Amino acid sequence: MMQRMPSNTDLLARSLSSVWHPCTQMKRHETLPLIPIARGEGVWLYDLDGKRYLDTVSSWWVNLFGHCNPRINAAITDQLGKLEHVMLAGFTHEPVVQLSERLRELAPAGLGHCFYGSDGASATEIALKMSAHYWRNSGKPQKTQFISLQNSYHGETLGALSVTDVALFKDAYGALIKQNATVPCPDWRDADSGESAKAYALRCTAALETHLQAHHQHIAAFIVEPLVQGASGMAMYHPVYLKRARELCSQYSVHLIADEIAVGMGRTGTMFACEQAGIQQYLPATGEAAIALSRSGKKLERRGISPDFLLISKGITGGYLPLSIVMTTDDVYQAFYDDQTSRGFLHSHSYTGNPLACRAALATLDIFAQDDVLNANRNLAAIFNRIARPLREHAKVKNFRNIGMIWAFEVETQQTDFAQRCFSLGLQHELLLRPMGNTVYFMPPYVITEKEIQILVERTLTIIESLT
Ligand SMILES: *Cc1c(COP(=O)(O)O)cnc(C)c1O
Repeated sequence: MMQRMPSNTDLLARSLSSVWHPCTQMKRHETLPLIPIARGEGVWLYDLDGKRYLDTVSSWWVNLFGHCNPRINAAITDQLGKLEHVMLAGFTHEPVVQLSERLRELAPAGLGHCFYGSDGASATEIALKMSAHYWRNSGKPQKTQFISLQNSYHGETLGALSVTDVALFKDAYGALIKQNATVPCPDWRDADSGESAKAYALRCTAALETHLQAHHQHIAAFIVEPLVQGASGMAMYHPVYLKRARELCSQYSVHLIADEIAVGMGRTGTMFACEQAGIQQYLPATGEAAIALSRSGKKLERRGISPDFLLISKGITGGYLPLSIVMTTDDVYQAFYDDQTSRGFLHSHSYTGNPLACRAALATLDIFAQDDVLNANRNLAAIFNRIARPLREHAKVKNFRNIGMIWAFEVETQQTDFAQRCFSLGLQHELLLRPMGNTVYFMPPYVITEKEIQILVERTLTIIESLT
């Protein structure tokens, strides 16, 4: 019997009747079509009719080395023939041990212990629980509050929402969420006129200090997205903030949690954004941050900071499988090391440390090493900035900014539904663009080519022309 060829329209209707899509008002799909994806290759996604889309957002910031990457495919296939999964309580396996050892080598100094979760939000939950439990085990059970930056995003489970400051995600669930304080966010777009990004960041650290001085006895941890606040619109800030925040947290006995779920794995130009905390030369507004980085070379590492908790997810598996890791210090680890079960860290997920996901992560780290990805990305970012110059100079484009492999800018427009129109027009031009409000951003896979960057920039310009 001949199998009927599936079409876009079939899958679309079936999806809408059975799948409840994330972060979506489903009614909007009465007019806005879903895009059924059949396969991917490199930076391209293909629908069932063979139409292609350039994945400029790395499928929600997870994909690093392209869709259907042969090296990651091979690693997962190899692991599939050996062990698909085993529980991590009472058992261990080579992929999870190797991954923990390799991350310890790569991460800022002192983060020798890896705790595993399944996605970004679970990493946030783990860090919050671990921090508060640490203080309880250390005779300071009153330290149960957390602070985060204004406009922060750390995930959408209830604990993570308590340190997330995005009204849309939070308001409906207010009654269920613990109240935590926020402190001013050093986003350089908020600086006074004439005030430098650095001066503004320092002004924000003064506010942090005032808050810590008054409340540190009740505060367990301060959680930050280092250098870039992603989900609230790619806000970027001067690294001096991180350096000062580290000093203040140590001074007031408050843990520093670095949420590198989005910015880790090379996204900001170094493996982890915390490594850049000591950088002086910072020129994001001109799109030259990546170039400044290449001039500073390897000395960067020694200028970084070590948080008490480092959260990793998204890109760690190259965008293949859900996995998250909370890395922490020996000090934290030792506070739980005891004969009593109740002093141990009480947290688990069914798929904790899944071997397939760990192998995907190991293959991803192999690619970083084999292809000298961080250096290659510095060149790629310079090429991108050159090609993107007409975009940066466009009369309706404001606050063009870049760090590592992230670009963002605001579009001056009267249209209230700009994001949706931009998305729809993008699809017509073979681009998967997903603006946040009037902020357009690119976070492409690291395998994007010069030619593909040209396609991306030219067509984005066309789209902006027709929307302004
Ligand atoms: C995406 C993200 C999270 C949440 O990760 P999920 O896997 O979506 O739960 C947390 N923090 C930051 C900074 C993120 O970008």
